[in-house]
Amino acid sequence: MGSITENVRRVREEIAEAALRAGRKPEDIVLVAASKTKDAEAVREAVRAGVDACGENRVNEFLEKDALGAYDGAPKHFIGRLQHNKVRQITGRADLIQSVDSIELLELLEKRAALLDTVQPILLQVNIGREDTKGGFLPEAADEAVARAAELPHLRPEGLMAIPPAWEKTEGTWPGAKKYPYFDEMYQLYIDIAGKKYDNTHIWCLSMGMSGDFAQAIVSGANMVRVGSAIFGARTALQP
Ligand SMILES: *Cc1c(COP(=O)(O)O)cnc(C)c1O
Repeated sequence: MGSITENVRRVREEIAEAALRAGRKPEDIVLVAASKTKDAEAVREAVRAGVDACGENRVNEFLEKDALGAYDGAPKHFIGRLQHNKVRQITGRADLIQSVDSIELLELLEKRAALLDTVQPILLQVNIGREDTKGGFLPEAADEAVARAAELPHLRPEGLMAIPPAWEKTEGTWPGAKKYPYFDEMYQLYIDIAGKKYDNTHIWCLSMGMSGDFAQAIVSGANMVRVGSAIFGARTALQP
């Protein structure tokens, strides 16, 4: 594994290759560095290397690194499960909350954003694999969630996020033609919802794909990928 800077360059190359294969422009794909368990200096190196955004999945880590200026120069996203008692700490601080996974959370975010007199950009998380262990709206409930979010004046829904079930990428999957059905299903859902053109929404973002499968996600239509270990190296601590 090379340096963070080299890793970012290599990931960018793979993103570009996948984008071109999908008939899209490489610069239209947003690269989010998922930096859980990595220190502020590592995050700074990724920002210097030109990632488009940073993503953190624990509120405490987000606040600690933010206080150290780790994300300076890049938008900061929250991508983890957001406990309701931490809504207060993250609303208005994260440039994008990718992981909004219930109507109740929508309402809490709206209340807090209203109090701060701000508009909070969000993505709705979809539990595309219907896994008990994962948060998110079931696919058939995603449209209604976006519609509900659109009614809340202090939230701005910008798209969908998913963490599909882990899958075995077999040898030759990339650059072969094989696609992952969950990615295709997510893309279809995203297109359907974007097509509804709800008032007060700007649905432009489909966030899916991680270190092991971001190229496949892009080929299926992702325009935001969240990449951790391929940029920062393996994580030692076990993470949910
Ligand atoms: C950790 C994490 C990622 C990145 O995972 P890698 O496999 O290390 O690239 C992406 N999304 C979320 C929500 C994460 O928590």
